[in-house]
Amino acid sequence: MRAAIFSREGALISKRKEKVETRNKESITQQIVALTVTLCQQNKVEIENLVGIGIASTGPLDIEKGELVKPVNLPFDSVPLKEPIEEQLHIPTFLVNDCTGAVLGEKKFGAGKGIDNLVYVTIGTGIGGGAIVDANLLLGKDGDAVEIGHLTIDYEGRLKCGCGKRGHWEAYCSGKNIPNFVRMRSKEVGQKTLGKSMLHSKQGNGLPNLSSEALFDAAKRGDEFSFQLVNEIGLLNSIGFANVINAYDPSLITVGGTVTLMNERFILYPVKKHVKEYTVNRIPEIVVTPLGQDVGVYGAAAAAIEFTSP
Ligand SMILES: [Zn+2]
Repeated sequence: MRAAIFSREGALISKRKEKVETRNKESITQQIVALTVTLCQQNKVEIENLVGIGIASTGPLDIEKGELVKPVNLPFDSVPLKEPIEEQLHIPTFLVNDCTGAVLGEKKFGAGKGIDNLVYVTIGTGIGGGAIVDANLLLGKDGDAVEIGHLTIDYEGRLKCGCGKRGHWEAYCSGKNIPNFVRMRSKEVGQKTLGKSMLHSKQGNGLPNLSSEALFDAAKRGDEFSFQLVNEIGLLNSIGFANVINAYDPSLITVGGTVTLMNERFILYPVKKHVKEYTVNRIPEIVVTPLGQDVGVYGAAAAAIEFTSP
């Protein structure tokens, strides 16, 4: 959980990062309240002077109720946030999808200033997106308008996504699922060793301890099979980006997420090279977000500013 306090003009004053408390769903609310109180105290801000609290979280969401609904990475059916936080702190609180927030943050603080057609894409643990079309932020009926990680890129559905469906972009190219892609391709091409230099260590069960970082590192070191797989992931990413370009027709796409930020060239180069093979729309500029790992807190702040301003 990243938290930050911003000035009314939008300057980041101070930030904190903590492991999410998942003892029960109330503990998540309590942690947000405690972080808010701490940041205010440390920066000598009275809580009642806060304009708003913005929360940017992975979906699915119910933005009207201000709840997380069956969150993929938490063991709860729903996590109410808006109501319990407003009850305790008496400050207007807004929940948005993390990537919806990120695209707002990009427009207010990042590379998207003055741009009316803008998409943010994250390739990190998962894959997600946010879109502004004709200067309008796309939300959808539940706030899940741009769940691009669950666009189908493989109609054969060889890999299963964390959402339970098959063939989704995120099932192949996200940090969490790249190891599944590596295992699948190794089986398909009969590569038994998975490329020795790709592996950091063996787990107790004798299975290789694969991670997306291990794959990219091995490719950087020149391991041929790893390099081939990184290119295959790049090709799948370019299909995902092409779908985004065909659907939203942006003039700029900014890209973030840990996998992107740690492997900028490996992620962006194949996309720029191949995306035209799958698009009908004019290709937009595609850049790494200048907001880096903080794009989420900029997004939460942008959401609070956007939704509290008259
Ligand atoms: Zn999915």
